[in-house]
Amino acid sequence: MENRLAVWKKILFGLLAAAGVTGLLTATTAVFFYALGSAAPQASPAAGEPASSSSAAEEEEGPLSTWEFTGQPDDWRLVLVNFEIPVPAGNDPVLETVGTVQVDERIVEDLERMIGDAAQEGLTLTLSSGYRSEERQGELFEQAVQDNLSLGMSLQMADMVAAESVARAGYSEHNTGLAVDLNGVLETFDETAEYRWLQRHAYEYGFVLRYPEDKTELTGIRFEPWHYRYVGREHAEKMRLLNLCLEEYVAYLDEQAARG
Ligand SMILES: [Zn+2]
Repeated sequence: MENRLAVWKKILFGLLAAAGVTGLLTATTAVFFYALGSAAPQASPAAGEPASSSSAAEEEEGPLSTWEFTGQPDDWRLVLVNFEIPVPAGNDPVLETVGTVQVDERIVEDLERMIGDAAQEGLTLTLSSGYRSEERQGELFEQAVQDNLSLGMSLQMADMVAAESVARAGYSEHNTGLAVDLNGVLETFDETAEYRWLQRHAYEYGFVLRYPEDKTELTGIRFEPWHYRYVGREHAEKMRLLNLCLEEYVAYLDEQAARG
């Protein structure tokens, strides 16, 4: 049990290697995610059944559910929102405008410091997106589906491919005000000096690259070099040291707490 995460990591690594993820074209990626989707989690274990003792239950779980989610952490900075977990009820961040976007006011100081410090080194970080209402998120998702349909995909495929890059309404971190998209949301952002600077320094300001290239099977989202999530400095530093994405980190903290 205590090494479960490590074991899963090995399994996932094997899966990744087998799938040959590196350099996949969009179409292939779609097939990959389709395969993952078909191995989607079965219903949760029956209530009262000890969650940790059943290896059969583990076998039934798809790779996307290898982290255990036992509820939102108390810490607002760690709220977990992904394709399976919606924004918590009552989500209503107090917003503040930075540049042309709005974000949760609690992250403004660190965000502005990050942008300012980057500028000191001659690097330009611009905010392309911050808080989005759930309604706006729904519009973006629907637009992505329509784009895929116009490429000739079936509705099911169009929906699935859209979900790789655009979250459904209520399932986006942008709905929390704790996430920002930088520098025009470009696929090539990871080739820039700004990206390399963020790789080295974002954690110092409490931000993490939310959808890293080596964690797509856990986040359910393809590599997004432009999307950063505020988790606060302590957490960002730990996540970096342990090389954990937010799904893994929340599960890790749960495990630590359970051990006392
Ligand atoms: Zn984003």
